[in-house]
Amino acid sequence: MITRMSSLFLRTLREDPADAEVPSHKLLVRAGYVRRVAPGGYTWLPLGLKVLRNIEAVVREEMDAFGAQEIQFPALLPKEPYEATNRWEEYGPNLFRLKDRKGADYLLGPTHEEMFTLTVKGEYSSYKDYPVTLYQIQTKYRDEARPRAGILRGREFLMKDSYSFDLTDEGLSESYKNHRDAYIRIFDRLGLEYVIVSATSGAMGGSASEEFLAVAETGEDTFVRSTESGYAANVEAVATPAPAEQPIDDKPAAQVHHTPNTPTIETLVDFLNANTDRKFTAADTLKNVLVKVKQPGKDWELLAVAVPGDREVDFKRLEAAVEPAEVAMVDEADFAKNSFLVKGYIGPGAIQSNGIRFLADPRVVKGTAWVTGADKADHHVVDLVVGRDFTPDGVIDVAEVREGDASPDGKGVLVAARGIEIGHIFQLGRKYADAFSLDALGPDSKPVRITMGSYGVGVSRLVAAIAEQSHDDRGLIWPRNVAPADVHVVVAGKDETLMSAGEDFAKQLSAKGLKVLLDDRKASPGVKFADAELVGIPTILVVGRGLKDGTVEVKDRRSGERVEVPVAEAVEHLVQVVTS
Ligand code: ATP
Ligand code: MG
Repeated sequence: MITRMSSLFLRTLREDPADAEVPSHKLLVRAGYVRRVAPGGYTWLPLGLKVLRNIEAVVREEMDAFGAQEIQFPALLPKEPYEATNRWEEYGPNLFRLKDRKGADYLLGPTHEEMFTLTVKGEYSSYKDYPVTLYQIQTKYRDEARPRAGILRGREFLMKDSYSFDLTDEGLSESYKNHRDAYIRIFDRLGLEYVIVSATSGAMGGSASEEFLAVAETGEDTFVRSTESGYAANVEAVATPAPAEQPIDDKPAAQVHHTPNTPTIETLVDFLNANTDRKFTAADTLKNVLVKVKQPGKDWELLAVAVPGDREVDFKRLEAAVEPAEVAMVDEADFAKNSFLVKGYIGPGAIQSNGIRFLADPRVVKGTAWVTGADKADHHVVDLVVGRDFTPDGVIDVAEVREGDASPDGKGVLVAARGIEIGHIFQLGRKYADAFSLDALGPDSKPVRITMGSYGVGVSRLVAAIAEQSHDDRGLIWPRNVAPADVHVVVAGKDETLMSAGEDFAKQLSAKGLKVLLDDRKASPGVKFADAELVGIPTILVVGRGLKDGTVEVKDRRSGERVEVPVAEAVEHLVQVVTS
């Protein structure tokens, strides 16, 4: 196919759009791929739509390859199914709600668990029907609080969402693995650098949920990765390795010290170093942080979290660790109600003797000695030994994770990185099947409750994620599998022989099955070269000055490498380049 730039609906821009901060947004607008219509709403122009469709095709092929079946729901959905699962309410302001002319409530689908569950229930009844995986590639609507970075976080965006339906937990694991493998193939084919991170801590059920993050400085998600191995995880999911237990016998007895005016770790360490003959660091102290936790359907209760004094409690890790409970910091009123808590000097003693659950960092193992509060203003205790002087009620891994921490797999240390969530796979279990009583009649005629998984790929976001990873300061550089064309033929000059040679090359390449973008405009070579770099087709054929000596130039957009090729060999050469 030949796309002629002389008639292509395309206007490139020399200036970055004022509202764009990240490279993908700037370049996709400048190169004429998308145009903004409203916050988080974009029009796909011809080149942009080609890239989007190419990505869609890769996703569709890999879904079909493992037997998932494509269907398509409307985006405009009735309220009732979403009321049945409480999501009509739970979704809060993120849901676009609207009324029809009769006053009936509708919504624009943000995700479709309800619809898929009801559809399977409507069609299937026997255990013989299962398992089944259905998917759609469809426009989703979410009234995001902060639409951002162009199509990276839209309020209307394209998602591939799929749902697996299985009779057994083992079946669900297999469906999950099918998706995981398919996603790996999809993102590999799209030429992305990405990591797979578990979305929740191991304690919550391990790999029941994983996210695929495209590595990008501009990403909203932070994760950590090992310098030595393939280990990568969400900060929430990092499991701190516990050190070996230590002997207790050789530890000095615990001793209370008068430590005036030392309410902070820093003042405490300074005081001890000035007033004892030992050397302490913040890591030798144990900080007891009081929070309150509310289990579903229960009242708020206090929880004490002990972390080494050189680290803060990471609230997101805390939230993930106590999920599904809610958690909040304690306030002055809580301290007033519990006068045994001496602010700045809280120790395990008062916590545990007053019935507050006391959970400690994994580093707080048997035999370790700590400096901590003595439950008395201006007093701390030194050499409080785990297993001798106190024993936490359990472990909670919520201290901040830092660069340089040992990697949990024992290989290398952790470094922080950022990523863009491009996919998410999730074992839902029976939540939606329960909500809609989705059962299959088993071989013994007893009903079997179906178990489900849900899996998403951000198809439109991928366009931006790829652009984010693949560009330079002159423009986009598309990986071959998604590029809007295979070869960009630039006619570098206005005279007729050049034009007709360009036309001829385009026809020959097209006849070989390549997609050609032909710059047949009457613009200057400089303008054409700049546009070619901006638009980002991976291979550029320059038909210019060399033609009279029988050569053309083939340029690699990524490496910038140029080779002179004899006219007679140019087509074969390009076919080679494109298909290798
Ligand atoms: P995020 O944390 O980025 O908001 P999410 O957890 O809400 O994502 P899911 O509900 O799992 O995302 O949706 C599946 C996929 O859809 C995501 O992995 C992401 O790639 C994409 N996606 C989600 N929200 C948006 C959006 N507002 N714009 C574009 N793509 C999105
Ligand atoms: Mg979201």
